[in-house]
Amino acid sequence: MRYHDQHVHTNFSSDSKEIMENYVKKAVELGLEYVAITDHADFMAGWTKKDELFSCPDYFAEIKRLQALYPQTKILAGIEMGYRKEYIDEINQLLGSNLFDLIILSIHEQADQDYFYKEPYEILGIETVVNNYFNQILEGLTTIKEYDILGHIDYCFRSLFRHFQQIFPLDPYLPILEKIFKKIIELDKSWEINTSVYETTKSTYYIEFLVKLYLSLGGKNIVVASDCHDVSRFLSSFSEIFQLLKTLGVKELCFYVNRKKTYYKLEN
Ligand SMILES: [Zn+2]
Ligand SMILES: [Zn+2]
Repeated sequence: MRYHDQHVHTNFSSDSKEIMENYVKKAVELGLEYVAITDHADFMAGWTKKDELFSCPDYFAEIKRLQALYPQTKILAGIEMGYRKEYIDEINQLLGSNLFDLIILSIHEQADQDYFYKEPYEILGIETVVNNYFNQILEGLTTIKEYDILGHIDYCFRSLFRHFQQIFPLDPYLPILEKIFKKIIELDKSWEINTSVYETTKSTYYIEFLVKLYLSLGGKNIVVASDCHDVSRFLSSFSEIFQLLKTLGVKELCFYVNRKKTYYKLEN
């Protein structure tokens, strides 16, 4: 089994209580070659209205401590960096530090709109907010230099489902989605199929739509990740998603070690 869950939160993220060791133990138990930890780093996070940054010295010390205890599985030090245009310099400085094995670039909010909550969609209208989100992605893809994976491209739709119990279609956003995927392809970055979005919406609609569009544009770099905040969701829904991806014509997926992309074949 070659599974690489490259979106994993521990209690170094303020929205997770899980200790890092539990993921490492699980990965060892499953005989995995790697376990990637990707905690949140957000300047002025919408959910707490303050910087949500973990202490790098503490983070790397914990990884080093666990690596000594569990040498069988390599622990990868990743980060999920929240993009906001007000902090481009700070973000580029943090990501340019050469500390990380992999970098997920995610959009969670902009100054007055946190895409997690219901209010922006109600106040500004769904299409406006989703368009703002996609435009912000497009901006982040070019203004941030050091990153590997675009995180949860369908994040707004996970929020929308939670708030309205409805699958909102992607068709109105086709032109901007094409631009985003073309930019990812041009820059040779990857994007992530986030199994948390699939589990929240209980639908494969978003994955199918996005994968078909991406493949039609010639894309090859897909990462599957759980975005788990506790160990019970580590590698969650991977088997189902792998089966689905095979039917859609995806033959291999990517993972990152030391900022280098590697492909692995979809297996049964
Ligand atoms: Zn995120
Ligand atoms: Zn995350």
